[in-house]
Amino acid sequence: MKWFYSCPGCGKTYAIEPGRYLCDDCAGRAMPGQPLEGVLECLWAADADDADMRAAREGRLIPLPVEQRFFPPLPVGNTPLWAPGRLRKELDAPGLFLKDDTRNPSGSFKDRASWLVGAFALRHGIKEIALASTGNAASSMACVGAAAGIRVKVFVPASAPAAKRIQVLQYGGELVEVRGTYDKAFDESLAYTEATGVLSRNTAYNPLTIEGKKTAAFEIAKDLALSANARTRLGDFGGASFCYGRSAGAEPGFLAPDHVFVPVGDGVILSGLIKGFEDMLRLGLVRTMPVFWACQAEGSSAIARALDSGEFIALPSETLADSISVDVPRNGSFALRKLKKYGGKAVTVDDSRIAAAQRRLASGSGLFVEPSSACAFACYLKVKETLGRAERVVIMLTGSGLKDIKNAAAAVGAVL
Ligand SMILES: *Cc1c(COP(=O)(O)O)cnc(C)c1O
Repeated sequence: MKWFYSCPGCGKTYAIEPGRYLCDDCAGRAMPGQPLEGVLECLWAADADDADMRAAREGRLIPLPVEQRFFPPLPVGNTPLWAPGRLRKELDAPGLFLKDDTRNPSGSFKDRASWLVGAFALRHGIKEIALASTGNAASSMACVGAAAGIRVKVFVPASAPAAKRIQVLQYGGELVEVRGTYDKAFDESLAYTEATGVLSRNTAYNPLTIEGKKTAAFEIAKDLALSANARTRLGDFGGASFCYGRSAGAEPGFLAPDHVFVPVGDGVILSGLIKGFEDMLRLGLVRTMPVFWACQAEGSSAIARALDSGEFIALPSETLADSISVDVPRNGSFALRKLKKYGGKAVTVDDSRIAAAQRRLASGSGLFVEPSSACAFACYLKVKETLGRAERVVIMLTGSGLKDIKNAAAAVGAVL
C-alpha cells in the first residue's frame, strides 16, 4: 500500500515524513481562537494484488501508514466490547454495547494514537516526542515512550487530575506544568517543537493522531459480527481477538453498528472512528455507516454549537469532564466536515447528568469510567427514546474512572 497525506480542504498531497504536519497552503487560514486549518488526512492507494491490500480486504489487517514491525512492544487496543446484561434489561436496550477502552496500557483511548506516533518515531530514528495534553495524551505518550525507549516531554495544565500527572512521572516522562488552560499548553508545546525540531504529538496537528484512533472502529465492527453470529451468551465479550496485523483465525466478518456515541473534546477520536468506518466501506468490509453522535459537556460544547450555527466561537470551557474540556477544538473543522458528511449529530449534557451517568454505568455494569466517557453514556441516556429499541448502539468508553477519583469521590459522598 502506498501512503500519503492529503489536505481535505484543497486536495494537495504530501509525503508522510518527519517535519510534515499541516497543509502549507491551508494552515495559514486559521484565525486566532479558531480550530486548526489544513489538518491532513492519511490516505492510501494500492494495487489489487498488493499483499497488504489483500489482507486488508479479507479483514486480516488494519491498514496503517507505518509497518507493523515498528510498533512499540506493548498491548494497545484489542479492547473488549461488553454486552452489559443488567443495563440492557433496565434500559430495555438489547442492542447496547460498551467499547471498553479503559483497558489500554495507560488507561485511555489515547494509547491508540500514541502507539502509531511511537511507531513512526522508531521508523525514523526519532529520539524525542513532545505534546500538549489535558492529561491522558500525556500519560499515554509517556507510557508508549517507556516501552519504546523514546524521551517524552509533556505540557499539561497544572489543574490536570493528579493521577494523570503522576502516570507521566512514573513512566519517566518530563512533565511541564502550565499555569493556564490546555489551550495555553498547546501553544507552549508548539513553540517548543518548532524551536527544537522535536516530533510533535499534538492532537490533530500531527495527522497520525487521527489515523491511529481508527483501529477501534475495526475492532467494533469485528466484534459486532462475532456477537451477531454467536448463538450462546450473545456478545458477552464478542471475543475481541483482532489487532493490527493479527489474524483472528476464523474467517472474520464485520458489521457496522447503527449508532456510535463518542465523547468529544478536540474531535480527534470522533474523526478517527469515522475514518475507520470509511476505510471499511472502501475495503468492502461493511455496507453501512453508523450514525455518529458527538457527545459534549454543556460547559464545553464548541463542536455541538458549530454543528448548529456553522461557526466556531471560542468560549471558556468549564466542566468536570477534564478530558473533553477545550475552548477551541483543534480538530474542529476536520471533525465537523466528517460529521456532516455522514449525517452525524451532537448532544450535550450538564455536569450533574455526567456525574449521575458515571455512577449508573459503574453500578449497573461494573465498568467505572472517567467523566468524559460518562458524558457519552449520559448523552445516550438523554436521546435513547429517539432510537429504535433493537438498534445496535456502541458507547465509546475512553478513559478509566481511576484517573480522576476526586470528582468520583464527591459524587458518592466520600471524603478523600
Ligand atoms: C482525549 C479524550 C477524549 C476526547 O477526545 P478528542 O479527540 O479530544 O475529542 C475523550 N475521552 C478521553 C478519556 C480522552 O482522554
